[in-house]
Amino acid sequence: MTETVDAPTVTRIPHWIGGSRVEGGSGRSGPVYNPASGHQTGAVDFASVEEVDAAVQSARKAFPAWRETSLAKRAELFFRIRELLHARREEVAEILVREHGKVLSDAVGEVTRGLEVVEHCCGLPTLLKGEHSEQASTGIDVYSIRQPLGVVAGVTPFNFPAMVPMWMWAPAIACGNCFVLKPSEKDPSASLWIAELLHEAGLPDGVFNVIMGDRVAVDALLDHPDIAAISFVGSTPIARYVYEKATAGGKRCQALGGAKNHMIVLPDADVDTAADAAVSAGYGSAGERCMAVSAVVAVGDVAQPLVDAIRDRIPKVKVGDGMDPASEMGPLVTREHRDRVASYVENAPGEGATVVVDGRDGVPDDGFFLNPSLLDDVTPQMKAYVDEIFGPVLGVTRVETYEEAVRLVNDNPYGNGVAIFTRDGGAARRFQFDVQAGMVGINVPIPVPVAYYSFGGWKASLFGDRHVYGPEAIDFYTRGKVVTSRWPDPATSTIDLGFPQTR
Ligand code: NAD
Repeated sequence: MTETVDAPTVTRIPHWIGGSRVEGGSGRSGPVYNPASGHQTGAVDFASVEEVDAAVQSARKAFPAWRETSLAKRAELFFRIRELLHARREEVAEILVREHGKVLSDAVGEVTRGLEVVEHCCGLPTLLKGEHSEQASTGIDVYSIRQPLGVVAGVTPFNFPAMVPMWMWAPAIACGNCFVLKPSEKDPSASLWIAELLHEAGLPDGVFNVIMGDRVAVDALLDHPDIAAISFVGSTPIARYVYEKATAGGKRCQALGGAKNHMIVLPDADVDTAADAAVSAGYGSAGERCMAVSAVVAVGDVAQPLVDAIRDRIPKVKVGDGMDPASEMGPLVTREHRDRVASYVENAPGEGATVVVDGRDGVPDDGFFLNPSLLDDVTPQMKAYVDEIFGPVLGVTRVETYEEAVRLVNDNPYGNGVAIFTRDGGAARRFQFDVQAGMVGINVPIPVPVAYYSFGGWKASLFGDRHVYGPEAIDFYTRGKVVTSRWPDPATSTIDLGFPQTR
């Protein structure tokens, strides 16, 4: 591990309303840490109900002009945003490292995947095209158009402080809406950086606002009558709460929740490939990814060689400060979260699991580090299997058959990502047909869809019926309208009181 040298100066992190930084006046704030050093580096303002209203009003004020802005002008702006973000992505990646803890290469990867959503939105004139039926009835044409909803909001988790907000604000704004973002209070600075970049690109004031805070701010958004739709990404209990409250208040809502992603390894799989994938997908970003593999399901004879191969790889994973180019895995986001994750390793033997590698060994006192841990003989009743651990703890469950493996996945309350490792195309095809999850990887451990498909899970991993980004985001952030139009020739005009019928 490397020593970190950041001085413990505390920077105030304000809101962004109407095109400028606005210091909060609620008197409430939360600490932001550098997880690699354990030092508090920031104090983020927590919004009051009135401050949330100020952000919503700024978005409301900006909406009429933004809605009128032509598709050509909006697309031009999106190309400018794309260029700026692309050129400066290392800058925001460093902010992610300092507040989230992930390593720099991973942070650049996060920004790059988010950038793909911005790039997709550069095609907004095509994405927003309606349909047209000429002569649907004699002299009558019918066409559909998609219009923005108005002011929409996004509430985002700590684990992707740049990418997940991009999943939301990019399509929402491209569709002509104005946006209020409530980022995670644990690593909020990337959102302010994005706000300044959008401003620099020429986005009109008020189209994008950031409100910092905790559940007071979220509740104020959920209760606000001028918010038409809410996108949420976070843990399942809060996703359920947000979905129920938003929809009870008549808002459109998509709320993405937690996950327990399984990786099934069939007996014919290449053991080295599967072990590499399990280590990469289990310990990358310290396991703090909603698509991280957390349950490895080893079918039949592959179990022991697979466990041995994963165990042999673990000592080679370089854990350290994310700013050190040698580091492959950083610390966890907070001390409490690190301790909670470590408790699963501590309690594993009592539950009957085997601790093959104990990540609590050799951890420095500074920072919120936990090394990769590997548990074997994990059964579906154990807490280490049931809970979303969200840390660098891989659990191996041994089963005898493919059917048992699929039953495990399908009986699980979550249904975000899932992967199968095999050399048998027929088995993979059967798996894709059988499995109940929103995103399936075939020899791909983290199957996050590219930006022109949509991202979302099934079951307790998503409340609502629209996934994020891609075509489903365009649906989510717009309302359809169908126009039936006639331009009659005055010479043939008559009165007809009957119900309009196709002719
Ligand atoms: P979280 O649910 O604690 O917080 C998410 C957001 O909700 C934050 O902005 C937070 O301030 C707010 N929030 C927290 N408690 C609240 C409350 N009681 N009322 C209203 N708002 C509240 O999640 P997190 O710890 O920041 O992120 C990790 C979780 O997010 C994991 O469960 C992970 O699987 C999930 N996640 C899911 C996806 C996905 O696409 N399905 C993607 C990323 C993260």
